[in-house]
Amino acid sequence: MSTFQAPKGTYDLLPPDSARYLAVREAIAAPLRDSGYGYIETPGFEDVELFARGVGESTDIVTKEMYAFETKGGSRLALRPEGTASVLRAALEANLHKAGNLPVKLWYSGSYYRYERPQKGRYRHFSQVGAEAIGTEDPALDAELIILADQAYRSLGLRNFRILLNSLGDKECRPAYREALQGFLRGLELDEDTRRRIEINPLRVLDDKRTEVQRRLTGAPMLRDYLCDGCKAYHEEVRALLAAAGVAFEDDEKLVRGLDYYTRTTFEFVHDGLGSQSAVGGGGRYDGLSEMIGGPALPSVGWALGVDRTVLALEAEGVELDLPRSTSVYAVPLGEEARRVLFGVVTELRRGGVAADFGFGGKGLKGAMKNANRSGARYALVAGERDLAEGVVQLKDMESGEQQAVELATVVSELRSRLG
Ligand code: ATP
Ligand code: MG
Repeated sequence: MSTFQAPKGTYDLLPPDSARYLAVREAIAAPLRDSGYGYIETPGFEDVELFARGVGESTDIVTKEMYAFETKGGSRLALRPEGTASVLRAALEANLHKAGNLPVKLWYSGSYYRYERPQKGRYRHFSQVGAEAIGTEDPALDAELIILADQAYRSLGLRNFRILLNSLGDKECRPAYREALQGFLRGLELDEDTRRRIEINPLRVLDDKRTEVQRRLTGAPMLRDYLCDGCKAYHEEVRALLAAAGVAFEDDEKLVRGLDYYTRTTFEFVHDGLGSQSAVGGGGRYDGLSEMIGGPALPSVGWALGVDRTVLALEAEGVELDLPRSTSVYAVPLGEEARRVLFGVVTELRRGGVAADFGFGGKGLKGAMKNANRSGARYALVAGERDLAEGVVQLKDMESGEQQAVELATVVSELRSRLG
């Protein structure tokens, strides 16, 4: 061990487990790529104000969890705690919304940072794959995103997840609800922090995870009773499209989510095998966000799925991913000349599209075969002086144990045809 360890709340992704993370990212991305979403990558840090305004001054993310710092040049930056504000900032900056092709559909994959209390499924550095559809108000777009996330999870073999769905209303109907809720909440006995929250973002109080707070909330006015006709019809259409697609969901009137920018459709994916960190992903519509960060009105919808928690969910369900072999052929040279010859064969195999590895470091037969086994290779190629003198190499099928001499000149094409 060295003097250093991974910082608190972080962990390293190491092989072979890291292959599962890559496979999860790929499985989430695949349905998006097939549905017109283009890949976007933004910097790992942004102007701190983008998140203060975009995510919301009253959220835990901004008040407690953000890694904010001042650069040597005096700029105030923050490591990105989430993806939506950055993606929208980038789309606006590049005028993607003016290219006359709305919605702008984008997907991303990357690292996010929140200064949280570390626990299982909650880290200070974590990974998300996300999708945003910018500039269009259409219930089919909300439904599309939920269906694609469902498809991604199912393609991984996950079954025990649920989709929670709610509507948060819009700027027409939410103010009246907000006032009614504030009136109710002000009459409750609550701590200082929560009382402050009542004035800044009362809907967030509904999201409080503490049971004693939840108990006091019984009888609180429900948003459903305040939704305007437009929001009601929109929400009914989203629900109908999901039902028609055979995607099961649960109406959850208390679902608020921890970011200030959501309007109308809000949803969360929860997995029942994860204990208290049960949310594997979430998202919703954010029709006001663009204006909040200084852009034009651009109704949009998106989600972000957590890669770390999705991997934990796979473990909880005991799902084994069908991962492709990383090495198909492993070459074991015995002696100097064999090293040169087999290294050449390995290079040729690789150039021909066959995943191949090599017994480096001049180990003996036993040690090198152990490595060949560990590599998971289907075939081992073994050659010593005598083989080379005869112009052959030994080709060993690692599954059947069968071994045969193959002419050196044809071994590459032989392996390529055997491996299909
Ligand atoms: P939670 O309520 O668990 O704090 P959240 O509402 O803050 O989640 P989002 O901001 O919606 O989460 O992020 C989307 C997804 O990213 C979450 O569902 C989760 O899978 C993942 N995620 C969020 N924060 C963390 C974290 N600190 N560690 C690991 N994954 C996280
Ligand atoms: Mg959180």
